[in-house]
Amino acid sequence: MEIVRRKTVTVWVGGVPVGSDYPIVVQSMTNTDTADVAATTQQVAELAQAGSEIVRITVNNREAAKAVPEIRRRLDDLGWLHVPIVGDFHYNGHILLREFPAAAAALAKYRINPGNVGAGRYHDANFKTMIEVALEFDRPVRIGVNWGSLDQQLLTRLMDDNAKLAQPLTAGEVTIQAMIESALRSAELAESYGLAHDQIVISTKVSVVRDLWEVYRRLAARCDYPLHLGLTEAGMGVRGITASAAALSVLLAEGIGDTIRVSLTPEPGASRTKEVEVAQEVLQALALRQFAPSVTACPGCGRTTSTLFQEMARDIQAYLKAQLPVWRGLYPGIETLKVAVMGCVVNGPGESKHADIGISLPGTGEDPRAPVYRDGKLFTTLQGPAIAQEFNRLLEAYVQERFGQIE
Ligand code: SF4
Repeated sequence: MEIVRRKTVTVWVGGVPVGSDYPIVVQSMTNTDTADVAATTQQVAELAQAGSEIVRITVNNREAAKAVPEIRRRLDDLGWLHVPIVGDFHYNGHILLREFPAAAAALAKYRINPGNVGAGRYHDANFKTMIEVALEFDRPVRIGVNWGSLDQQLLTRLMDDNAKLAQPLTAGEVTIQAMIESALRSAELAESYGLAHDQIVISTKVSVVRDLWEVYRRLAARCDYPLHLGLTEAGMGVRGITASAAALSVLLAEGIGDTIRVSLTPEPGASRTKEVEVAQEVLQALALRQFAPSVTACPGCGRTTSTLFQEMARDIQAYLKAQLPVWRGLYPGIETLKVAVMGCVVNGPGESKHADIGISLPGTGEDPRAPVYRDGKLFTTLQGPAIAQEFNRLLEAYVQERFGQIE
């Protein structure tokens, strides 16, 4: 099935294009105190190293705003010049962006939450100030609506209007409507203040999977701004990963979404980079992008009573992951490599033939022989106690032959 991307304008975030036919961008966000320059720089670098192409940091107070230029400088020194950092602003963004022009200059984009820019007459004035700074520094913005911090005045007005209808909509329906109105009205306001149409990205995040589909489908039908997708507050562990994958995959398969973030809550002390890994896996599973070689492994069953098969699948995956940073430089296109590690003769040879290189291990009761296939053809058969090591050698040789640059 072909995925046809929704047509959008292109927004440049630093040197990273978002939207149109450009690859869907993976982004992430730090959870360090931005005022802690060393910790924030280190985490941005870790996220970038993991594959985050844009990294957002919160700019929540004067100390954080003061730290931004130094974080940028240190990242540049570390070689991460090409990774834009985005400032996440709430409540006081209009003050901080005005007071700290060096921070405004160091950030590649400003995230503005229209629900958190101030109430009443201050709302539009504060929003205008932030757009004026964006104009001054020629920066794009993301209008980032979140149902946990929706513009209450707008919601109340829509709820009141709804109550007068002969057949009122549900509160959930009105909330979705309010999110879309808040995002589009803010984008319209930003343009009325002079921001270009192609300097606006929109997001409307909720934490319920089906509601996320609904709000983004409707939003996508009403504008051509690039959309930032994410299930907000997805949660921890398996639950967070599964919910995010379910939420994002359906929309991405419909061609909706130009940049994604997976909002996982890390286990205490665990690396923040998991969210980047999951975002990449979602895009790779949908064949929208290719980040790393893939290993096809069967789940194993009663035909695989030894642990050899599980160990091999794990070790090959780990070996590929460890080699990847080096291989990327040596072997252009290495990320398209497909390896199969299968547990027995039932699906082993077939699946191995579909891969670039694959091995079909002997299942319980089979001859202790493991046929290896290269480019769909039987290449050799391994046996004995060192099957795993021999297969790794064959894999390495295949990579060199297929992806090595000819001098
Ligand atoms: S390939 Fe063999 S071992 Fe793997 S799940 Fe299928 S039957 Fe079981």
